[in-house]
Amino acid sequence: MNELISQGKRNKDKQDQSGSSDESDSDQDFGIGRWQGKRTNELSVIGGFTYIKDDKVRSSDFPICIASVFMIAAPSLLYLIVILPQTFTWYGSVIVGIIYVASLVANFAILLKCSLTDPGIIPSIKSSNINKDKYYYVKYDDKLRTSQNDLMTGEEFYDQACYQLLPPPPAEGDKEEFYKQNNDAFALAFCRTCQILRPPRSFHCKTCNICIEQHDHHCPWVGTCIGKRNHRYFSMFLFWTSIHALLTCALTLVFFIQTYQNQGKVDVRNLPNVLTIFLFTYSGIFFVTLIGFWCYQNCLILDNVTSNEHLRRNWNGSKHRKKQLENAARPSILQRMRYFYFSELPPSRVQAYFKIKKNENTDDQLQQLNNEGSSITNLKSINNEAVLREYGIIMQSEELLV
Ligand SMILES: [Zn+2]
Ligand SMILES: [Zn+2]
Repeated sequence: MNELISQGKRNKDKQDQSGSSDESDSDQDFGIGRWQGKRTNELSVIGGFTYIKDDKVRSSDFPICIASVFMIAAPSLLYLIVILPQTFTWYGSVIVGIIYVASLVANFAILLKCSLTDPGIIPSIKSSNINKDKYYYVKYDDKLRTSQNDLMTGEEFYDQACYQLLPPPPAEGDKEEFYKQNNDAFALAFCRTCQILRPPRSFHCKTCNICIEQHDHHCPWVGTCIGKRNHRYFSMFLFWTSIHALLTCALTLVFFIQTYQNQGKVDVRNLPNVLTIFLFTYSGIFFVTLIGFWCYQNCLILDNVTSNEHLRRNWNGSKHRKKQLENAARPSILQRMRYFYFSELPPSRVQAYFKIKKNENTDDQLQQLNNEGSSITNLKSINNEAVLREYGIIMQSEELLV
């Protein structure tokens, strides 16, 4: 144990000297997770994500998000400064200006919320019960629903805890029989980079270099992965950006019509007129593209399918799930929307992971923390096995874990 602590110290010293860390691939099953990123002052990096506070993370792509801000802010400011004062009286300009700026601020607020929320990072903390050379077969089991009502609740529809671990196939030769009996079974993927058994529907993002739960896609415009915990904010961002683009279209059209009525023609040598045509086209293209993407996203959201799964056609549970859904009616569209957008988010595992990394806790130290009633007593709840348990997948000899 002391050797492990000093090994941890050595790694830390090395990081402090070089300013960046190498991967510390410790054999310890718990306490030292996989360290993949760089170290910058007091901020620690998980995969490509820079930890900031609570569940807020800043991904390595964050600076690109400034490009999105510029693409929204620049045309909006041009409209406010050049076109707006020429469209309405000063009184009207103030009212329209306030509404327009409020829409712009709301847009940036949602973008930041989406960009800084942990998308559902799965910490790379191994469990001694999981053998990386073994195949673990699971299947979706609707019988595990908490209630057996004919109508599913929103929670049941989007809930993940409906998988069960199957006993392994008895021998190589009997695999066919195994599949015949469990025709919806699929093997969980082992992530070689994170060294964890991935829960169903999660995916390893190469840009962020970490596994993300219910991974939708990596969005460079938002500067982060879109996953279980920030998918709702991403969809809200698409919606609000299209509304803001539509507002810009409508306001530039008002100016265009006014100019035409007053002058009987639109002189394209006049700067405000050229700018109006440009802003109208620019916002129009954005509106059509983003509202289309938003509609696509929401069709999938209502089906509880991510874009990743839709494009790859690989949600292993979906075929079986559709069959099971015939037995119980889905919640209404409104209920599904309400659950997806407004239900409480599952807690982020980033903070607990950060505490493990920062303190480089050993099992002994954790035991001591538990005895002291520390606020981080629940650190074991984020290791690989505990994450799988949230999906209903319980490993054998679980008693060894606690
Ligand atoms: Zn991974
Ligand atoms: Zn990513």
